[in-house]
Amino acid sequence: MSNADRRREREELCELLAARGVSDRRVLAAIRSVPRERFLPPELQPAAYDNNALAIGEDQTISQPLMVALMTQQLKLTGAETVLEVGTGSGYQAAILAELAAQVVTIERLPGLAERAEKTLRELGYKNIEFRIGDGTLGCAEAAPFDGIIVTAGAPDVPAPLYRQLREGGRLVIPVGDQGLQILKTVTREPQGPVIEEAGGCRFVPLIGDAGWTRPE
Ligand code: SAM
Repeated sequence: MSNADRRREREELCELLAARGVSDRRVLAAIRSVPRERFLPPELQPAAYDNNALAIGEDQTISQPLMVALMTQQLKLTGAETVLEVGTGSGYQAAILAELAAQVVTIERLPGLAERAEKTLRELGYKNIEFRIGDGTLGCAEAAPFDGIIVTAGAPDVPAPLYRQLREGGRLVIPVGDQGLQILKTVTREPQGPVIEEAGGCRFVPLIGDAGWTRPE
């Protein structure tokens, strides 16, 4: 596929995202500039700009572009923030965040995925991403507080350590529900306590860890 074809596909994807509620121009610009095909195995690269989640190995997925864009938009990033991502997976969401925030810390529990994502992101030249391997339900205390936290796996509830690691006014975006279906929640840390906003239904692989599921059902 030629570069011009890829650019056209990315443009069509952005039009679809805009029509489905993505209004933050910086988020659309980030989707336009990150080459999603680089985060996929070769046989799936032709489908890089379809609005679908795709398999990345180890029973995990790269999230659907619409979900990446809507979740990122919820963080209301301006460029100055430090953001934590739980669930590095392919590294695509980390790249989008790195385009929009000052610093990104990303945690993945599966070392094979984490190493591949780090290699891809280094090759693409990202210098503002820190990589961790471990249980992201516990957050990353040494890099806290965070202006934003995004969890890209489905949780049974909002993990308390993640809420505690938010700066006042910070936002945590997380799918919460059972292992089949979740609701996208945005939790803002206000002086009086958490303020929770709920968006539509979504379907993510399970968040496995101390403050998540003990294992897939
Ligand atoms: N953000 C990813 C991307 O852009 O490709 C998609 C992530 S995939 C839907 C969810 C990821 O969360 C998987 O790679 C999974 O291994 C990871 N995960 C699940 N539980 C985790 C935990 N407790 N800590 C860190 N990563 C976790």
